[in-house]
Amino acid sequence: MIYDLVIKGGTLVTPSGTSVADLAISKGRIVAHGRGFTGRQEIDADGRLVLPGVIDAHTHMALPVGGTRSSDDFHSGTVAAACGGVTTIIDFTVGARDLSLPAAVEERLITAQKAVIDYALHAELVGWTAERVGEIFAVAKAGVRSFGEIFTTYSESGRRTSLGDLQVALTAIRKISGTAMVHAEADELVHPEEGPYPPARPALAEAVAIAQVGVIAAHTGCCTCIAHVSSAPGLAALFAAQKQGAPILGETCPQYLLLDEQVYAREDGHLFSVVPPLRREEDQQALWSALETGGLALLSTDHCPFTRAQKEVGKDDPTRLPAGLPGIETLLPLIYSAGVDKGRLPLTALPRLLSEGPAKTYGLYPQKGTLAIGADADLVVFDPTAKWTIHAERLHMAIDFSPYEGMAMCGAVETTISRGMIIYAKGSFQGEAGWGRFITR
Ligand SMILES: [Zn+2]
Repeated sequence: MIYDLVIKGGTLVTPSGTSVADLAISKGRIVAHGRGFTGRQEIDADGRLVLPGVIDAHTHMALPVGGTRSSDDFHSGTVAAACGGVTTIIDFTVGARDLSLPAAVEERLITAQKAVIDYALHAELVGWTAERVGEIFAVAKAGVRSFGEIFTTYSESGRRTSLGDLQVALTAIRKISGTAMVHAEADELVHPEEGPYPPARPALAEAVAIAQVGVIAAHTGCCTCIAHVSSAPGLAALFAAQKQGAPILGETCPQYLLLDEQVYAREDGHLFSVVPPLRREEDQQALWSALETGGLALLSTDHCPFTRAQKEVGKDDPTRLPAGLPGIETLLPLIYSAGVDKGRLPLTALPRLLSEGPAKTYGLYPQKGTLAIGADADLVVFDPTAKWTIHAERLHMAIDFSPYEGMAMCGAVETTISRGMIIYAKGSFQGEAGWGRFITR
């Protein structure tokens, strides 16, 4: 038997453990684990980790915000993803009050066509009307089974969903066995006129909203994922809701683990604007520990880059500051380096939080998110000994700074494989525009 591609002698890492084996791929799928395999193409993975491809379930490519757009589009953003070991993204439709959900999906699929890796879409829920219930059923038939972000805040821009409408939405999403993704900040505790900074968007606002959403999730039985949990009070509210039986999960992102609010005091502090804002060291500790124990189900990036020039307009007027950070290319290396190498997370947490967690939360499992036989051959060969330093100009994201500039890293992506095709190897992107497929769920 000669396979299409064999990854030889790597350490296969799954959520339940590690083993050294060959992994064989044919027709874009994983077909065997074993020893002594032969392939038309072979990759020597001796001393390397073999991981399921990373699923970044929270990205905002070419997102229109206040007259500008996030600087990565579906091409540049997914090239960067491939270079960072990400093989699937879940991006969002761009919702609007007068746009139906099916029309928003159709529009976004045109924008997404040039993606170099597979993608799925969350249907953004803004401007709730009675028609949305029927639209939720319609897009579910078209393969979109997650709905978000649903915002409990941003009333100033008309994006907020009231608690009453949230209850109706979650009831409908429950009926199609979908997942709701909620951006949880209590609007009454947020002061948008002060910009995307901690005093204006306190952890208290996050905690209050998570508690409220938790009650509605429990009441409706709708699987609900809280996007970008950023704080210890937010986590406490999440755990309380879980304890009461709410089907509620949490996501966090590298920026909340590795950066803190002290950066806002820097001359270029406005570059770090993101919502929720960065928090304190004790919040970081609580988030790391929740990742380790399984209290948080997944890690994503909320990738939403804006260049120095785009952020400059908000330097002196925080109400005009676009909030969002780049992150898709550095997700896996940062979590390996700061998590596994520093002893905060076991190796098995990588596939659990970066692949299986998002795949199960959003209905991609077991096609994606696992090394099991039959799964799509979306894989990463990772060198755990490589030493390098983050410099924005060496990364592939369409942005001229990195929030992690100068950070010393241990471990690097060596090869990325998408459905059996090598799309990144030896430091260069080798995939092609349009290779990515829309994954229906
Ligand atoms: Zn959000």
